[in-house]
Amino acid sequence: MSNEMYEGKAKVLYNTDDDSISLMKFKDDITAGDGEKHEQLEHKGSLNCTISKKIFEYLDTCGGIHTHYISSPKVNEQLVRKLHIIPVEVVIRNIAAGSICRRYGVRKGHTFKTPLLELFYKDDSLHDPLVRDDVITEMGWCSHVQLAEVKRQAHIVHHKMTEYWAKYDLTLVDQKFEFGIDAYGCVMLADEITPDSCRLWDKDGNSLDKDVFRQGTDMNKVATVYNYIHDLIEADAIG
Ligand code: C5P
Repeated sequence: MSNEMYEGKAKVLYNTDDDSISLMKFKDDITAGDGEKHEQLEHKGSLNCTISKKIFEYLDTCGGIHTHYISSPKVNEQLVRKLHIIPVEVVIRNIAAGSICRRYGVRKGHTFKTPLLELFYKDDSLHDPLVRDDVITEMGWCSHVQLAEVKRQAHIVHHKMTEYWAKYDLTLVDQKFEFGIDAYGCVMLADEITPDSCRLWDKDGNSLDKDVFRQGTDMNKVATVYNYIHDLIEADAIG
């Protein structure tokens, strides 16, 4: 029987009988503002689990991308490789939105010349501050070589995901990745890729992601967005 080893805001990780594998359960919780805004969204766990499963399966077909994903035994559960998670959120932006607009006064909608990568220390109590490479390696969160590999893989996955969403006529504005290190020191993409972790705009600039929750109060609208992305991907497996 599985036993819990870590509970986050949107997922719970359990140990399994195999020391190298964890069970990741997606919750129905939706949060924003470091957890200050918190609601339940019926079926969100299974919607996000399925969205992320489809995307990680797509990334597998791209070749050369190493991820933690193994399989999805239930609609809201995934078996994943057990990794030491680097406590750094890797954000890559095609277009300015969210925190970068607040930090530097960049106009929302400004397109960057090339995808812009930023690193944040994953700590809600400190409000996930922007972090420099030197701090990451000095703190021992990962080595210089591993950090270079994180950035290399993040750019590749970001490029693949920008193409992926474009096929659905959606613009990938930005997204957040988390990486982990396996028992052999190899860097792998972890966590999830869902409307919780990226910003997607349709042709009219409407948000189809967690911004609908961050900026609004209508949970029906939020449910519509998550169901829309789920149904889009489920109906048409783009490889
Ligand atoms: O808030 P910010 O504009 O820096 O977010 C950039 C991207 O990272 C957005 O797609 C957002 O959904 C995602 N993000 C996340 N988890 C966080 C912070 C940001 O998935 N803790």
